Amino acid sequence: MPIKTHKYTNGEITVLWQPDICIHSAICFKGLAEVFDPRRKPWIDMNQADTERIIDQVKKCPSGAISIIEKKN
Ligand code: SF4
Repeated sequence: MPIKTHKYTNGEITVLWQPDICIHSAICFKGLAEVFDPRRKPWIDMNQADTERIIDQVKKCPSGAISIIEKKN
């Protein structure tokens, strides 16, 4: 079965979220709630923080459910 993936972009980078891998640790929410807010739809809003902060927070995800694709120029 293919792994479900949702994509969220700010034009510079794209965050991929794989809900079946997410262990709902809320580390992303506690660390950067402006971007990662499960009470909102869509729950990831890429316009609420700069790219560096989003990359730093994605690196802290314990399950690898969120990852980054960087846009190549
Ligand atoms: S940090 Fe990763 S595993 Fe935890 S809620 Fe966020 S996406 Fe899911």
